[in-house]
Amino acid sequence: MSQFEQVLGAAEYRAQPLVVPQVSCRRSTCDTGGAISFAYRPHREERVKVPMREVVCHVCGRRSQIPAAALSAHCVHCCAHFETASYVLHSGTRHRILRTLGDVTIPKGVKLSHLDIACSNLTVSGRVSGRFYATQKLELRGEAHINGDLKADFLSVTSSSRVVVDPSVVVQNAELRGELQGRLIAKGQVRVYADGKLLGDCRAEKLLLDPGAVHAGVRLH
Ligand SMILES: [Zn+2]
Repeated sequence: MSQFEQVLGAAEYRAQPLVVPQVSCRRSTCDTGGAISFAYRPHREERVKVPMREVVCHVCGRRSQIPAAALSAHCVHCCAHFETASYVLHSGTRHRILRTLGDVTIPKGVKLSHLDIACSNLTVSGRVSGRFYATQKLELRGEAHINGDLKADFLSVTSSSRVVVDPSVVVQNAELRGELQGRLIAKGQVRVYADGKLLGDCRAEKLLLDPGAVHAGVRLH
């Protein structure tokens, strides 16, 4: 007995049968002389549902579903390509032009100009200028100041904030719990809550002013 065999014997080595999981071994249905075919047959419970999320295309504006974990995606309607990362922009950032299905946040104290941003949810607390399009929610906080072209599906001005849009913001619906200075153009409904103030002209299908709410401006039609 060699030294190697002695070591194996000491460890009580036993050969184990090779088991290949998820591969079925069955007799072929066609006449192959009794040959065994190995075919991959996934079990029904293996077909797990991939978590999806709904996104809105910046180019055609239509909705589609993409895997929640996708790093980039194509619009199924117009084939436009987007990344899905989210960004927090600070002063001096190199990300001035962004086309993402993720969210973008511009924190308090940040000053940026010549931005061109299209994203899902946009939150602004700083002072910025450029072109902005949020396919879902635009949230203005604190003393946000936005100069330029501003478009969103839904606008929210948070409580205790005093924000400025110059010259205007175009949205589907809006709710104001703080002060908004500038022109507000909504295709749907605008609701100004009790502590909210709308200091500027407003065009909306429905303008709801809660008791205590202020609207200083002209109602455009
Ligand atoms: Zn599209």
